[in-house]
Amino acid sequence: MDQSSTRLLPPETPRDFGFFLDGAYVPAGDREVFLRNSPGHGTPVTRIPKCTTEDLDATVAAARAAFEDRRWSGLSGADRAAVLLKTADILEARTDEIAYWETLENGKPISQSRGEVGGCVSIFRYAAGVARTLHGDSFNNLGDKMFGLVTREPIGVVGLITPWNFPFLILCERVPFILASGCTMVTKPSEVTSATTLILGEILKEAGLPDGCYNVVTGSGSTIGQALTEHMDVDMLSFTGSTAVGRSCLQAAGSNFKKLGLELGGKNPQIVFADSDLEDAADGVAFGIGFNTGQCCVSGARLIVEASIADTFSEMVAAKLKNARVGDPLDEATQIGAITTDAQNDTILGYIAKGREEGAKVVTGGAALDIGQGQYIAPTVFSNVTPDMAIARDEIFGPVLTVMPFETLDEAITIANDTIYGLAASVWTKNIDKALTVTRRVRAGRFWVNTTLSGGPELPIGGFKQSGWGREAGVYGVEEYTQIKSVHIELGKRDPWVE
Ligand code: NDP
Repeated sequence: MDQSSTRLLPPETPRDFGFFLDGAYVPAGDREVFLRNSPGHGTPVTRIPKCTTEDLDATVAAARAAFEDRRWSGLSGADRAAVLLKTADILEARTDEIAYWETLENGKPISQSRGEVGGCVSIFRYAAGVARTLHGDSFNNLGDKMFGLVTREPIGVVGLITPWNFPFLILCERVPFILASGCTMVTKPSEVTSATTLILGEILKEAGLPDGCYNVVTGSGSTIGQALTEHMDVDMLSFTGSTAVGRSCLQAAGSNFKKLGLELGGKNPQIVFADSDLEDAADGVAFGIGFNTGQCCVSGARLIVEASIADTFSEMVAAKLKNARVGDPLDEATQIGAITTDAQNDTILGYIAKGREEGAKVVTGGAALDIGQGQYIAPTVFSNVTPDMAIARDEIFGPVLTVMPFETLDEAITIANDTIYGLAASVWTKNIDKALTVTRRVRAGRFWVNTTLSGGPELPIGGFKQSGWGREAGVYGVEEYTQIKSVHIELGKRDPWVE
């Protein structure tokens, strides 16, 4: 890669990756290979093995062996923390390289990829602390003859399935917590964005993670993903992706009643009151739908705005989006990159066409952009949207914002809650009563007041309703990967049952 200019170049030939088993890469050999094209450039960038079910069994067996012999779970929290801290240091040193492969496979701007790797470094450092503070509870109120303990134990072998929209960030919102808890794991990235998940394997090894604790199996979701979900020797599955596949994971996990963590879709409201700082709100709303080309489960896709300012405010958001720089993701100046998959590109353009058919009005955007060989869509704002329209109800997962006006606070809350999802929401107002009332009554797992899409490892991630089960990150996140055991300890002589 050419590091000297402000515009990096895609590789001349695609890079071959192996899957990661028991601390070492396994080359594709005679397996089929998936050739990934950069969505920003249309050229091939990586070649990823299509693992077989035997490969999957081998990775699960490696994770099982590593768990059972306690090479990781038997270490102190301090020793586990040391590995996580070392991992953070190596990630930091390799930021540019990881960001480059992330951008090539995903299409997101290189500056954003670098920022995300920086976020991952921070998560590993946070999780190192959690490894040391994770603890149970004790009961000293059971009388002089009984003492009670509640211990937390790692749940065992975790299967982790991640999506293509934030391949490395979503991975790193989970891996350090899984490892902090003492579990071992097999992860399956989306087939189209496997590179950085594979690179993490050698980084963890270099940081001192024992072999077998982190394994990566590659291939498609419908084959290897499904098999991992059904696997009889996996104790827990953490899945992030669509609500439809999340539902199929629910059924598949019934094979051995594995515990499930699910982070699924969203159709997240941005509620804007007339008394907000409109300049800040317009910028936040534009960011909330433009960031990562709207391919975020927490994108603010529904603008619910006080009727008195609806037209003016929509124009302000449209003006912001028109000024956002869409283009080559390897260009340092780019703010909005390419659409990650061909299927997603078709889906978004399909919804834009449907919005027009349903009678919504395009305020800005509404078409594909002709930029080089990649696939790009202009950030789009629709007004005249009614709650029954598909563009108002379905998760589009693209840079498409729908505007719906409201007259009263109650009406704003009703519109916000009129969805099967409950992942995230934002409210913009300078009135504390309105801010807190909306925060308390809108059903969503993540909430932002006068900001959006902010976060850090301290606060948990997860959704209400059909947006998922369980929480990732924070103290809550590490606890998800533990089992609770209650222990009764009798002191002194037993009161006999039989005299
Ligand atoms: P999926 O839900 O299909 O993909 C998410 C992950 O699940 C990928 O690793 C995928 O693998 C894997 N997967 C697919 N099928 C199965 C299965 N049967 N069993 C186990 N794992 C499976 O999302 P899509 O990529 O198809 O995107 C479709 C829609 O999902 C988007 O338009 C968006 O609405 C939503 N989505 C939501 C995300 C979120 O963060 N909440 C993230 C991604 C998508 P592979 O990619 O290799 O097939």
